[in-house]
Amino acid sequence: MTKQEIRQIVYNKYNGKCAYCGSELPAKWHIDHIEPAVRNSKYDSKNLRYVADGTCRGQGSDVLSNYNPACPSCNIQKNSFTIEQFRQNIMGFLNSLNQYSTQYKFAKRYGLIRELETDVIFYFEKQL
Ligand SMILES: [Zn+2]
Repeated sequence: MTKQEIRQIVYNKYNGKCAYCGSELPAKWHIDHIEPAVRNSKYDSKNLRYVADGTCRGQGSDVLSNYNPACPSCNIQKNSFTIEQFRQNIMGFLNSLNQYSTQYKFAKRYGLIRELETDVIFYFEKQL
């Protein structure tokens, strides 16, 4: 299977939508590893930086069944988290906003924001 064919299958998995937030995939959408794959890197002493060496470690394997289509912001935020870690990460945003964001606290106090007692449910979980 070519890379292009793999991308098309992953794209079609949720009809062109991000598996996590459900938004339309933009042109530069990402392939997420559901079980994270951590890319190994080696130090390039010539350029003084780490570069990917083309190998992976961790539970996440480079197989089609481990791929989800993701918009760049979800993929970048998910980073090397598992699904549950990603969910907890997003749920933690509310605590951070309440603790650190003056604008958020103001907007909430003036009734512009209403928090819901709900869990983060990913788009792909609603498709089951
Ligand atoms: Zn998304």
